[in-house]
Parts: sequence; C-alpha cells; structure tokens
Amino acid sequence: MNIAEHVERGRRLFPDRVAVQAGDARWTYADLDAYTGRLAAHLRSTGVASGDRVALLLPNTAVFVVAYLAVLKLGATVVPVNTRLQAVEIGHILDDSRCAPVLTTPDLRPKLPRTAAVRVLPARGAPADFDFTPDGGVPTAQLDRDTPSTLLYTSGTTGQPKGALLSHGNVVSNMNAKVRHTGMGPDDRLMLFLPLYHCYGLNAVLNAGLNACASVVVLPSFDRGRCLRTIRDERITMFFAVPSVYRLLLDSAVSPDELAGIRYFMSAGAPLPVTTQSAWAERFGTVINEAYGLTETSPFACYNHQFRHRIGSIGAPIENVEVRVVDPATGHPLPVGEIGEIVVRGPNVMLGYWNAPQATAAAIVDGWFRTGDLGRVDEDGYFYLVDRRTDLLIVDGQNVYPAELERVLRAHPGVADVVVYGRPHEVVGHIVCAGVVPARDAPPTRADLRAHCATRLAPYKVPKIFTLLDEIPRGETGKPLRNLLAGTTADGRPGPRPVP
Ligand code: ATP
Repeated sequence: MNIAEHVERGRRLFPDRVAVQAGDARWTYADLDAYTGRLAAHLRSTGVASGDRVALLLPNTAVFVVAYLAVLKLGATVVPVNTRLQAVEIGHILDDSRCAPVLTTPDLRPKLPRTAAVRVLPARGAPADFDFTPDGGVPTAQLDRDTPSTLLYTSGTTGQPKGALLSHGNVVSNMNAKVRHTGMGPDDRLMLFLPLYHCYGLNAVLNAGLNACASVVVLPSFDRGRCLRTIRDERITMFFAVPSVYRLLLDSAVSPDELAGIRYFMSAGAPLPVTTQSAWAERFGTVINEAYGLTETSPFACYNHQFRHRIGSIGAPIENVEVRVVDPATGHPLPVGEIGEIVVRGPNVMLGYWNAPQATAAAIVDGWFRTGDLGRVDEDGYFYLVDRRTDLLIVDGQNVYPAELERVLRAHPGVADVVVYGRPHEVVGHIVCAGVVPARDAPPTRADLRAHCATRLAPYKVPKIFTLLDEIPRGETGKPLRNLLAGTTADGRPGPRPVP
C-alpha cells in the first residue's frame, strides 16, 4: 500500500511507455522508476527518513513528479506547497508542518525563509540531473494503509489554510475508483495543467494516470493556445479542468475538430453552471463529467457519470463511499429533497487535520466528514449542491443561496459571468450584492439586471448592489473570491476594502 509502487508496476508491465512528459523531459516508466529510486536513495543519504515531512515548492514539471514519488518511496510525507503563495504564507505552512527539508528550484528559492533547510533541484530535470549513485540500494518502505502520504493545505477560501493529512490508503482507494470510473488505461494520454500542489491535479490526474499506466502530459499552467497545440500534437485522450476553463474554451472559437481526439472531459473544484454544460454539449456533442469532492476526501466523493448523467447534479457516490444529507445542527439524516449539509464516510476520508485535534473532531463525527456544503439528494440517489455553508447569506432571517441567484442572473443574455456575495449588515444580516461581467455584444444596465431578478426572485433575494466587473476574481480551482469582493475576512467578518 504505497502510492509509489504504481510506478514500479508500470516499469514491470510497460517499461518503454511514456509515463510523464513535460517540456524536454519524456520519461518512460523505466526512466521514472530509476530516477525516483536514485533521488530517494540520495535524500536518504542526506538524512531524510521514513516518517519525516518533506515540502515541495516546485512548479508543474517532471521534476515535481520525481521528487513527489521519491519522498513517498522513502516512507516520508509530502507537503506540496502552492507556488503562488507569498513568502509569509509559505513560512506559515513550513512552521505548521515542521518540514525538513524543502525541495525547490533556483527561481523559487527566494520565496523560502533563509533559515529553512533547502535542497535545490534542477529546474528542467535532464536525466543527468538524477544521476545520484544509489547509496545502500533503493529504499522500498513497506507501509500500511494508514501511513500518512500527503499533507495538503487547503487554499483557505473558507478560512486559514488547514493541513489535511491523507494516508496512502486514502489516495489509493480514490485513484482506484477514478480509474475504474473513467475506464482509464495504458493507451490514454492525460493532459495535466492543473497545479500539482492541489489535490485535483495531484491525485485525480497524476496518481490516477500512473496507476492506470497511462501517459501524463504535464503543462506549467492553463494557456489556451498551448493547450490546443498539445491536444493535437500529443494526441490527448482525457482532459481535466475547472469550470472557468470550459467557459473560456466555449467563449473562444475552438472547433469540435480540435477536441475530437478527447474521449473524456472532467470538471471539478467549483460548480459547473448548467448553461456551460448545455452549451458544451451543443457545440462539441459530448458531456462534461462532473466530480465533486474536497481535499479532505482525497478528493472525490461523487461522480456524475456520462452514461447515467443528470444535468445540474454532482452525481452519485463513488464505490465504497457513502454520502448523506443531514441536519447541520443535529447530524440526523434528512428525507429526500430536503436541504442540509452533505457528509461523507469511506476510505477516502482524511486521517485528520494536521496538529489540530479540535478541528478534526469538529470535522469528522462518527466517521462522517462534514463537508460544509449544502445540498439535497433525489429519490434515485443523485446529489445536488445548493451552496457552501459559508456562502449562505441571511437577509432578515431568511436564507439566500448565492448559487440560486447566480443561476437566475446567468440566464440573462447580457451576463457573461456572475458572482453573488453578501456584505455584512448589523440590522438585516447581509446586503445581497452581485458582481456581473457584461456580455461584450449586449451589455445590460443595472436596471435591466434588477428587473430581470425582480420577476424571478422573491424581493428579499434581489441584489441591492450590482457591480460591473471586467473579470471575476477566482482562486486556483475557479472558486470566486467572494471575501475579496465583499471586503470581509475569510470567516465573514468585515475586513479589507471591497473591490470597487
Ligand atoms: P477551502 O476549503 O479553505 O475553501 P479549497 O477551496 O482549496 O479550500 P477544496 O478542497 O479545493 O478547498 O474545495 C472543496 C470545495 O469545492 C467543496 O467543498 C465544494 O464547495 C467545491 N466543489 C468541489 N467540486 C465541486 C463540484 N463539482 N461542484 C460544485 N462545487 C464543488
């Protein structure tokens, strides 16, 4: 039960098949296994031992993949660090996780505190860069399913980043489910531009791909032109993205022929608007498969399968995983159709939050992980997300779900993109606000938008303030940064100045 064993299996079954491709690097399963073993042996000779935590501050490159697998091979825990964080935020993660050492590249080195124990790896990763002589043989740590594998800090759109500690068993169960669900196999070629420091890119794409002995084509980030060239030149068959990427591709003149080789599209990380899903199906004649989950569930708990697809749903639980809707106050299951908190139980639920027993006890109750998402289930067991608990607005004691208002506004032909958020108000609770990106050909006025909402929504739900924006500020996985717009801190208290 060691994630890194999948690469050894790949080496035995398909030694000459490309495992990872990034920039100039084009490494077969035999190469990847060899470089990983050598780096693991080298790290051991520098004092890294099983049970240690090793941070990776590395860009999306083949070097990240080797470093990640080498640390796992040693039986140590990987702490992937978001490369876009500021030095002070990185310092918080290093202090909290008590990592030693940090593996990084020369250009990212200045982001690390001077006192950190740093090991600088080559940026590009030519084979010679991993020419360490294995000292005492390649490590092969024997681990059990509960051994920690990864400490992933959530991006903190709902508060201070917390370290979710995932075991090897958590990740392996989730990647097995993913491989079976998608029918991913050795002939697949996966596109990976999602950040490798996030659970979606790391587990659902890289780990699942290596588990299936597929080829993973790693790009530094999403760029439309590079993405389309790579799809064509590298004959990509599986595509993983967040909703904002699908929107962007729809808004540009991409033709169905350009995506014809792709047999599977997945969206996760943030709600996929029904309008995007329908427009995609119409233009490309194919479905976007939605997956729902959190870092704490390794990441996936539900899939909306293309052959049993229900538009607007996040799908049904994945194998061996139970999902329920409960009363957030009592934890009791609610009947079909009623809105409550979504809770998850299964082999994918994290070991706990690092160094935070109280937060863990509050999050995992009797084995059920409280997601903080509000939703409902239908009579066939399909789940529908209503909103995040922290996004819920209270207006004069009434619940207002931003997602509902966003759906209504998105149906207006003059709205290209929208986010609804609340400004805290001492008397009414929240002032409902909408940030709207106007469509280029038919920009609406504020009065149009207000009238559109007034005929479709109860008066207390109609936004009081409409702000026209060039672009909606979004986080890594496409979630709108509502706090930034509302001028609140992540837990909803008055904070920084709102975006005008
Ligand atoms: P934080 O929890 O601090 O906000 P984060 O945004 O990094 O950090 P993630 O684990 O990446 O946390 O995101 C999990 C959340 O993403 C879920 O709780 C849910 O709200 C949202 N999400 C994930 N998949 C979907 C989906 N398919 N549809 C709608 N929302 C989704």
